[in-house]
Amino acid sequence: MSGTNPDPILCIDGTWRHASDGGTRDIINPADGSVVAVVDEASADDGRAAIAAGRGAFDESSWRDTTVAERSALLDRIADLLLRDRDEIARAETLDTGKTLRESHIDIDDVVSVFRYYAKLVAVESDRLVDVGDPTIVSRVVHEPVGVCVLIAPWNYPLLQIVWKIAPALAAGCTMVAKPSEVTPLSTIALIRLAEEAGVPPGVLNLIQGSGAVIGDALTDSPDVDMISFTGGASTGAHIAAVAAPHVTRVALELGGKNPHIVFADADRDAALDAVITGVFLHSGQVCSSGTRLIIEESIADEFVAALVPRAQAIRFGDGLDDASETGPLVSQSHRDKVEGYVALGISEGATLVTGGERPADDEFAKGSYFPPTILDNCDRSMRVVQEETFGPILTVERFASEREAIELGNDTSYGLAAGVRTADTARAERVARALRHGTVWINDFGVYTAAAEWGGFGKSGNGRELGPTGLAEYQEAKHIWTNTAPKEVGWFTA
Ligand code: NAP
Repeated sequence: MSGTNPDPILCIDGTWRHASDGGTRDIINPADGSVVAVVDEASADDGRAAIAAGRGAFDESSWRDTTVAERSALLDRIADLLLRDRDEIARAETLDTGKTLRESHIDIDDVVSVFRYYAKLVAVESDRLVDVGDPTIVSRVVHEPVGVCVLIAPWNYPLLQIVWKIAPALAAGCTMVAKPSEVTPLSTIALIRLAEEAGVPPGVLNLIQGSGAVIGDALTDSPDVDMISFTGGASTGAHIAAVAAPHVTRVALELGGKNPHIVFADADRDAALDAVITGVFLHSGQVCSSGTRLIIEESIADEFVAALVPRAQAIRFGDGLDDASETGPLVSQSHRDKVEGYVALGISEGATLVTGGERPADDEFAKGSYFPPTILDNCDRSMRVVQEETFGPILTVERFASEREAIELGNDTSYGLAAGVRTADTARAERVARALRHGTVWINDFGVYTAAAEWGGFGKSGNGRELGPTGLAEYQEAKHIWTNTAPKEVGWFTA
């Protein structure tokens, strides 16, 4: 299959086309190393053409004058089409990422809820009247689209992450260039085709697929771009912010996380065991909000860790298309090498390997990039394996003696994306939740979100927010219109 890409997959100004320099990329199934598709790999010129298309559609077409009711209906139509093609897109997501079909289906249901949420939210948006204390003045704040947006997504939740951007950007009336991760483009290609079918006009939603290293700067170093929304690693985010700075482009960054899951001795034991396991090993740990740091009260720590081990060992990993698999492989062989390296690093730093840690020897896993659930005990906050994002199925365990120490440990990170606290004491839960410097805090729960509540990070986990009303505001400019209904001379100057 390698070398042929029958269907053009770059969408620029409503035309589907191949890369201008003929570049292609094999898309690999991480479950077995097979090539599942060959797609176009855009050049920097293609990136610039996509931005020009977005600029033209914003400045010259009637798109930005569409009513909120029209855009709301469009979002609902896209949601309907996603449901129609749910199984097909879920399968593409699983082939691309390795995640289980069950997870891929959940992702699609989630993105449908995001389209529905913004369809409703934008429909009720109205001008805000400001009382300036003078009946002759009408002061209004109106919301207008920010303009041309570059939307860049990572590989772990390809469809979900791009929809958290596309849905509010469309709702706001922006035009955009969407760039999925080069290794996981299939679900985004399907989405853009559905958006076209739903009636999104040419040039409004352009699709570029290609290596960030090759086309990234062409997309972000441009005076024609009004806003960049990026989800990915912290160093890439910092690079993009620096490249965009001379243009004073608005930049929203959703970056990594190193998320504490704090368990007090009075927490419901079985629910806590289940949540810790799910919180870190779901999608083989390739989740920005993965609960990778277990911070546990020392009085229960030994027994709790011992109880985690058989649960971790019982997790069935395998091909995401196999219904028996509970979690899939890592996204690539190179990513597995990185995760494996972190286990070795943790051990060299003094951690105790309790379970996992070695790639499976069985033949059935030989061609895929599998790595087992791994627990490292006796960790402390000075270790790199505790501080750096491993983005794999690695749980590190730290112990605390007091509430204050638990908070200190939970906040001892340069990141600040998400955290969990488990206790039966509601007052303590509230104190700890308020003290933690993280964008989301779950009390006696973990990993859940809703389209109506903001998502984003403190510290190096980024800036800006996705989802909720703030997620729409990111794509809007607030404009104040002041109308004097009874103009007369001000008389400040006498001349
Ligand atoms: P990444 O390497 O930073 O890549 C993210 C995206 O940026 C990809 O589309 C990538 O393209 C592109 N890119 C790379 N270099 C670029 C450049 N110079 N200019 C513009 N774009 C560029 O991150 P990843 O490995 O895909 O994703 C994992 C990271 O995402 C983790 O750190 C994870 O925590 C984070 N994440 C955060 C959230 C959140 O909500 N905060 C959610 C999900 C993931 P190519 O890959 O095509 O080269």
